Formats: sequence, structure tokens, C-alpha cells
Amino acid sequence: MPATYEEEALKAQAIVARTYTIYKANHKKHQNADICDSSSCCQAWISKEDRLKKWNEENRQSNWNKIVKCVNETKGKIVTYNNEPINAFFHSNSGGTTETPKEVWGGDNYPYLQVVQTAGEEGYKQYSSEVKLTFEELTNKLKEKYKDIKINFNNDDDIKILEHTESGRVRTIKFGNHELSGVETRTILGLKSTNFEFSKSNGQITFNVKGYGHGVGMSQTGADSMAKEGKSAEDIIYHFYANVQIKNLNSE
Ligand SMILES: [Zn+2]
Repeated sequence: MPATYEEEALKAQAIVARTYTIYKANHKKHQNADICDSSSCCQAWISKEDRLKKWNEENRQSNWNKIVKCVNETKGKIVTYNNEPINAFFHSNSGGTTETPKEVWGGDNYPYLQVVQTAGEEGYKQYSSEVKLTFEELTNKLKEKYKDIKINFNNDDDIKILEHTESGRVRTIKFGNHELSGVETRTILGLKSTNFEFSKSNGQITFNVKGYGHGVGMSQTGADSMAKEGKSAEDIIYHFYANVQIKNLNSE
């Protein structure tokens, strides 16, 4: 989360990141370690030195102080469900509506990860993006995975969104002789989320995308937008995670 975000949003992020780390330490198995710093396994991490280098010199110390303050003011706080640390997913921008984990990764849903709506996310640069491809570029990208792909671009039914998820994201889309999930399409075409529409004109296809990230759990821009409306870190967490409690790590 950018250090420029509101303090209450940063505090919510501190609680959520702490919870996520504890959850991973409890559920992942590593040799000789509790957690790792791979974002695809546990949680991304950089040293203080590297973090400071990435900020401009004039904001360096104030950004650092602000984050340290938010971490310390939430010291030991984690999000729990049934007294257990939750799998506290978060992402950049929900496009206004969050997603359930089953739609993204398959497997099980979690009672505390529901579809929720947040106003104010449209004001952030992550909210809308587009990817433009020529018909040839689209075909070539899909060919990397589906060697026999055949799309008739003159037939309007040959590229078609077949199903949406409860949150309005694409669940299934047809490209010629193949049906792909929204998640797979996002990966192959490099879209910022699975919340997209498309249009065709002059030999090109344009994907208009809303939001950034998988959409599960807390939206960081949503958290910042709520904080700007005067909401506290606790309000933000209770908005994005259903029926949870914020507890101290060391108290039962
Ligand atoms: Zn790991």
C-alpha cells in the first residue's frame, strides 16, 4: 500500500498483513522456516534499506515514520474468525466489488470472504485500464496455450462472454473453438483483473478492465477511500471481512 495513503488505511493494512503472515506461518510448511518472502507463496518483503531507496529523498523519512507509527499503533492486532487468524487476502482495487476466493483459485470459500461493495474506488488510477490487441496479436497470445485456436473475427458470436460471477467479473469467455475462464484470460492477455468487457473495431479488440488484482478481501484503494470518509482501520476491516473480530495476538 502506498505510504501516501491515509493513516487509518495503513493501519488496516498493517493488521491485515500481520494476520496474513500469521495465517501463512500456521498453514504453510517450509523447511527450517515459518514463512518465506515469495508473494506467490507467503508475503512479499523488502528490507528497510531497499524500501527507503525506492522513495524520493524528500519523503523518505516522513514515509518511514508514518508506516512505523501505523504498525506500532496496531501492535499485536490481528483479524480472527472463530478465534483463528483469517486468511486475510488483499488486493489493489476491487473495481467497486470484491470477489470470493473460489472464483479465483477454485477450492473452498471462506465464510469471512464475501462479495462486498465499496464506493470511491473509481477515483484511483488502478480503477480503469485497457489492453488493445490486433486480431493477430490476440490469436498469437492464445496460441501459446491453445495451439489449435481458431477465431472467426467476422462472427460476433465467436468471442463472447458466457458467464459472469456473482461480483460481475468474467467467469467464462469463448474464444472461437475454446472456452477459457476469466482468470486464465487475465493471465494470458495481461489484464489487470477479470472484471472486463471488450469491443472490436478496425481489426483490433479492446479490453476495458475495471479494478486491479484478484479482488478477494480488502481493497487497498477501497480502504484509503473509506479512510478519507472518516472511517477507522477497524471499520475498514469489518467492511471487507464478514463476521470477524480484531484481537490481540497474545491474548486468547
Ligand atoms: Zn512461503
